[in-house]
This record gives sequence, C-alpha cells and structure tokens, in this order.
Amino acid sequence: MLIGVPKETAAGEKRVATVPEVVEKLIKLGFRVQVQSGAGDAANFGDETYRAAGAAIVDSAASLWASSDIVFKVRGPTAEEVGLLREGGTLIGFIWPAQNPELMTQLAAKKATVLAIDSLPRQLSRAQKMDALTSMAGISGYRAVIEAANAFGRFFNGQVTAAGKIPPAKVFIAGAGVAGLAAIGTAANLGAIVRANDTRAEVADQVVSLGGEFVKVDYEEEGSGGGGYAKVMSEGFQQAQREMYAKQARESDIIITTALIPGKPAPKLITAEMVRSMKPGSVIVDMAAEQGGNCELTEPNQAVVKHGVTIIGYTDLVSRLAKQSSTLYATNLFRVAEELCKTKDGVINVNMDDDAIRGLTVIKEGSVTWPPPPPKIP
Ligand code: NAD
Repeated sequence: MLIGVPKETAAGEKRVATVPEVVEKLIKLGFRVQVQSGAGDAANFGDETYRAAGAAIVDSAASLWASSDIVFKVRGPTAEEVGLLREGGTLIGFIWPAQNPELMTQLAAKKATVLAIDSLPRQLSRAQKMDALTSMAGISGYRAVIEAANAFGRFFNGQVTAAGKIPPAKVFIAGAGVAGLAAIGTAANLGAIVRANDTRAEVADQVVSLGGEFVKVDYEEEGSGGGGYAKVMSEGFQQAQREMYAKQARESDIIITTALIPGKPAPKLITAEMVRSMKPGSVIVDMAAEQGGNCELTEPNQAVVKHGVTIIGYTDLVSRLAKQSSTLYATNLFRVAEELCKTKDGVINVNMDDDAIRGLTVIKEGSVTWPPPPPKIP
C-alpha cells in the first residue's frame, strides 16, 4: 500500500508526519511512501533526504491525497483536505473526535477509516510506543524550560565566581503530568532548585526521582479522576492550594504551569495578585494557554511583561522543536503501522479485536466507531 505524507497546512505548524529515517523503516514493512514536496522543510528535512530514503516526491497536495491508500498527518485535516482524501482511504493523525464532530461527519461521508492518535488507550502498557501525546508533552515541557531560561536574566545553576556567589534559580512547576515531569527534569539538570505540585499525590515520587521537591497542599483530598487524570477539586482544596501557590510565587524566580483537566477549562492557579508579588525579572511559562491558561494574566501565543514579570503563553512549543517532535511523532506512527501490518507485506489490517487498534480507530470504512468500549485488558 502507498503511504502519503502531505505538507501540514495549519498556520505555524512546522512538524511533518514522517521523517527520512522512518521512511526507510516503513519501506522495510513493505509499504511504498510518497511525500509532498516541501513537507519537511520547516523541520529541516529537505525533499532530497526523503528521496534518498526511498520516498517519491509529489508536487501537489491534490495528487498526493488522491493517490495515497493511507495518509499520515499531524493535525486533523481541513474540510478542503477531507475533500482531497480518496473515497475509502485511511487517515492517521490527531483528530480529537469529541471536539470535532463536523470533521468526523465529513470523514465518515468519505467512507474513510480513521485512526486518531489522540484516542490511543494510554493505560495499555503495549500502547506506550505509539503514545504521541506523551512524546509531544515531553517535548513541550523541555521547551518550556528553555523558553523560561531565555527570558530569565540570570543563570539557572548556582555559581561561585571571582565576582561573587550566585544563588541557583528557584523554579516552581504546577502540574506534574508528562509535560510537568519533563520540565522538572530539565530545570533540575540546568541546576535550578525545583519544586512542584500536583493534585494527584501519586506523582510525588516521580517528582523526587527527577530532582524536584514535591510541595503538598495542606488539605486532604484525593485528586485522581478517571483513567489516572485529574478532577476538579473542591472549593476548600482550591483555597488551601491558592495559599500555598501564593507563597511559592513570592519565593520563585520561574513558574511553569502545566495543569489540565480533561474536557474542562484549565484551572486558574496563578492569580494577578500572585504575579504582582513575584520579583521583577521573574518568568512564568503557561503551558495551559491554549485551554484558557493557568495564570489569570496569560495571553495565548504571546510573551507579555506584566508587573515586571514575563508571562509566556506560546501554544506552539512542539513546533519550536520541529525536528525533534517530527522524529518522535513519525516513530509513534511507525509503531502504529507495525501493529496494523504484522504480516510485514505493506498491507494493513485494522483489527478491531486488538484493544490498542480498537481505541485508535474512530471511523471504520465510513462507520463512526468512537467512543470505543473500555479496553478489556488493563
Ligand atoms: P494532563 O496534561 O491532562 O495534566 C497535566 C497535569 O496537571 C496532571 O498531572 C494533573 O494531575 C495536573 N493537574 C490538574 N489540575 C491540577 C491542579 N488544579 N493543580 C495542580 N495540578 C493539576 O496529563 P498528562 O500529562 O497527559 O497525563 C496525566 C495522566 O495520564 C497521568 O496519570 C499519567 O500517568 C497518565 N498517562 C499514562 C500513560 C500510560 O499509562 N502509558 C501515558 C501517559 C500518561
């Protein structure tokens, strides 16, 4: 079968759904691969590198979409792209079916088979190699620290120099999921003193293992909702948490916020008052900017200075590391292809009895199969 990789069309999107080293692996699985000319340019993968890996280069998006049996995408397709998809074709990429009912209807009308990488049952341990959400969150957490370091006027690590002793920067991370843990590790590696908080107390050990200190809210309440994700906390907890965060804001040079609750707006954890209490020159990176922000003063896609504090609300952190994120994403999709093509003959079998494939498949030959039943094996 022929896999096609078009150039991403969303504004500011620099990633590409496959990279030359993965093209070679897909060919070994028996597939043919074609890539739209320029698809990898923004991630520093030129046409010639894809060609050298064995891919064909196609000039127009229209002919690429029309001739591909399977399309690998990063972002969900636009209505125009759905129009280009061949009837009965297969599409793999980020779809977010709950948020995009219209897209789901358009794809079903095309009798497509659609695998939404965001719908992977992440609780299955054998699904981890396909987990693009984790890959992307890890990159974002790393990049958030790099953005903070860039905006911060001092070293992260403490130093003793001939000109005097420099204290290490104090970094506070709100939310210790995948992105938060990556931020903790990165900031600790740079030599900062790192503290972190999460409503799910179970992450405390992971925070410590990455070199951070877990700061608890002085209020007994379990923070885990369904599937290992967070829930909305009680008003009592939120009040106690605000008091603790206010203290951390006064003491920290850098705050990185990553707190999200699936299907809900991001919790507001950093108030304008807390920002005002921070030292001039401090930095906040709000990784929840796209979901409404964890800080009251965040402006999405902007870096603004308020009360002497730089507040960064970039929503394109993964695209700022496009080569790395494309490589990891391409590898996650390759792992999906491997699961779909166990026969290694370049022909896919969307086996709905396989828990991981069942979870990923949101449309099968035009029939909407999302949401899936819970996976059988935990
Ligand atoms: P996320 O991006 O949805 O949330 C980020 C973090 O914010 C979470 O840790 C959450 O607890 C925290 N948070 C929410 N509200 C908060 C608040 N008010 N104050 C402080 N922190 C708050 O989560 P994620 O990083 O995608 O993953 C979270 C969960 O998914 C974890 O349990 C993780 O172990 C699980 N997961 C499992 C697998 C797997 O089993 N293979 C893979 C990836 C993730």
